[in-house]
Parts: sequence; C-alpha cells; structure tokens
Amino acid sequence: MWIVPEAAIADLVSREASFDAVEKVFAAMAARDAYNFPVVREAIGHEDALYGFKGGFDRAGGTLGLKAGGYWPHNLEKRGLINHQSTVFLFDPDTGKPAAMVGGNLLTALRTAAASAVSIRHLARPDAKVIGMIGAGHQSHFQLRAAAEQMQAEKVIAWNMHPDMLPKLGETAAELGLPFEAVDLDGMTEADVIITITSSFAPTLMADHVAPGTHLACMGTDTKGKQEVEAALLARATVFCDEVAQSTSIGEAQHAIAEGLISDSDISEIGAVINGTHPGRQSADEITLFDGTGVGLQDLAVAAAVVETAIEKGVAIEVEM
Ligand code: NAD
Repeated sequence: MWIVPEAAIADLVSREASFDAVEKVFAAMAARDAYNFPVVREAIGHEDALYGFKGGFDRAGGTLGLKAGGYWPHNLEKRGLINHQSTVFLFDPDTGKPAAMVGGNLLTALRTAAASAVSIRHLARPDAKVIGMIGAGHQSHFQLRAAAEQMQAEKVIAWNMHPDMLPKLGETAAELGLPFEAVDLDGMTEADVIITITSSFAPTLMADHVAPGTHLACMGTDTKGKQEVEAALLARATVFCDEVAQSTSIGEAQHAIAEGLISDSDISEIGAVINGTHPGRQSADEITLFDGTGVGLQDLAVAAAVVETAIEKGVAIEVEM
C-alpha cells in the first residue's frame, strides 16, 4: 500500500491534471461506467464539526475507495489549520486490498475548483469576461484561479458576507493580472460567470442579482439545509449538476425541489454535456446553473492521478498492511 502525505501533494498535482481527472470521471458517471455510494455526513456534536464519507467505484478508471473527513469550522481561528480536513483511501477493485492513503485537503480544493471550471468550459458563454465571486474563504482562491483559466477573463467582482476577507481574494485576482472590485449583490448583474462558495444556510444571491446569459457554479452547498442562491433562480435557469441524487438531497436544488419549483427531471448531469448527449447551453440569454455538490469519485480520480505521479517520482511511501 502506498502513502502520499498531504505535504507532498502540491508538487504532484496541477490544476490541469485535476481538471482532466474530474472531467473524465463526470463523463464516466453520465455513461454509467462509474457511480457514487450514498454519502454519510454527520454533525458529530464536537467542535461543531461535520464528518463523513464519500465513496464510489469507477469501473472505467479502475478506482474504488472513499474520502473520509469533513469541516471543522473553528480550525483556522483556534489552531491555524484549514477548516476542511480529509484523507482519501483507495482499494484494489480486484481484491479489496488497500492500495493507497492520500492526503485529501489540497486535493479537495483542487477537485472542487476543477468541477466548477469544467462547468464553465462546457456551459458559460464563449464571450464571458467578468467573474463574479460570492465568498472569500479558503476555497474561493482555488475557484478563482481555476475559473480564470477557462475564460478570457477581464475583471473580477466579489461580494462576501464578511467584507474583511475580500482584500485577500483581491490579491489572488491581482496575481492573475485581473482588476478586482468589491460590489453589492445588486452589482452581480455585471458578471458573466458567478461562483458561489460560502458556508451559508440562507440564500444571499437572489434571482434579480443575475443577468440573462450568466453561468452560475454553485459550489458551497454540500449538506442538507445549506443554501446560497434563491430557489426561484433554479426555476429560471437550466440546471446541471455533478450527480442528481446529491443535487436534490444535499445540493442547491434541495430547496427548489422542496418548494415544488423544479423536479428531478429538470436537472441534467454535466457529464451528459461532456459526452455530447445533452446539448448544454442553447442560447446567449439562457441562465445555466451548475449545482456542484462534490462527489466521492472526484476525490478518487484526483487521488489516483496523484498516486501514479508520486510512485513515478519516488515520493510515495510503501508500507505492508
Ligand atoms: P471557509 O470557512 O474558508 O469560508 C467560508 C465562506 O463562507 C467565507 O466566505 C465566509 O465569509 C462565508 N460565510 C460564512 N458564513 C456565512 C453565512 N452565514 N452566509 C453567507 N456567507 C457565509 O470555507 P471554505 O473552505 O472556503 O468552504 C466554503 C464552502 O464550500 C463550505 O460550505 C464547504 O462545505 C463548501 N465546499 C463544497 C465542496 C463541494 O465539492 N461542493 C467542496 C469543498 C467545500
């Protein structure tokens, strides 16, 4: 069994490799060559933490395993650690033997950013120029970097419930050579692509804050009860997701479904667009919305790519189980 420690990951995986791994596994899911297991996610009543497991099997990629971990909201302020903590475990699908244990923290950020980047590549208008960011926490920086690579971006506008966090996101925009402006939610109508990446439990982005033709990647809602955008927005948009079962239960669509505004059959998998079995965006005025809940197969796909590179580079540690 191979171990790839968290500290080694940054030198082993690129945004491009993460994008390719995630795009491929979304395609495999839509082709029914890969499937995710039901998610376990528990509020453990300690440190306000949410802990759980996301697993799956990708027959096409030969990847079986799970990610264990979750969200510890006080880590940063109390311990200087990031709030997300996770580890990926891979198993040999032929024998069930453990194959690898891989640090999952950076991988989670990269695979989540890759998911919205995949949605931007396949669903945003080709002339999209302005990136709108809702959220300015740890993930937002990864999201912005990955999104900027998918568009001829000219400007970043941003809103965050805690405005003191915005200047740091402005620094990331500056690194990308993009002008940055903090705006009111009303100002989001200027955006061609909007990424929401907050831990909100109530909608902040309303249908009126979004202009026709916008592509939204809603990435923060990954638990029952969370919500970032007004449910009416999903009724107005063409809705895509990573996986329908997750989107309707723990994703942004849970609210529009509960309010009877849309049904499961109104939601399409992004993999179908990648595979060419769904046409994707069909007009310049259409609002497209990607409900990115984060599936276990994304984690397994990027982890498997990392293990391969780590073995090649002699960085993976081999242990007998
Ligand atoms: P973080 O703690 O670093 O940042 C949290 C962000 O949410 C900040 O912008 C903060 O200002 C904002 N926020 C906090 N409370 C809010 C509220 N009540 N209303 C509106 N905004 C609020 O967290 P992070 O690591 O950046 O993660 C952000 C979210 O993304 C989390 O909810 C996390 O669970 C989710 N996430 C989703 C996936 C996925 O695959 N979909 C993957 C990783 C993280």
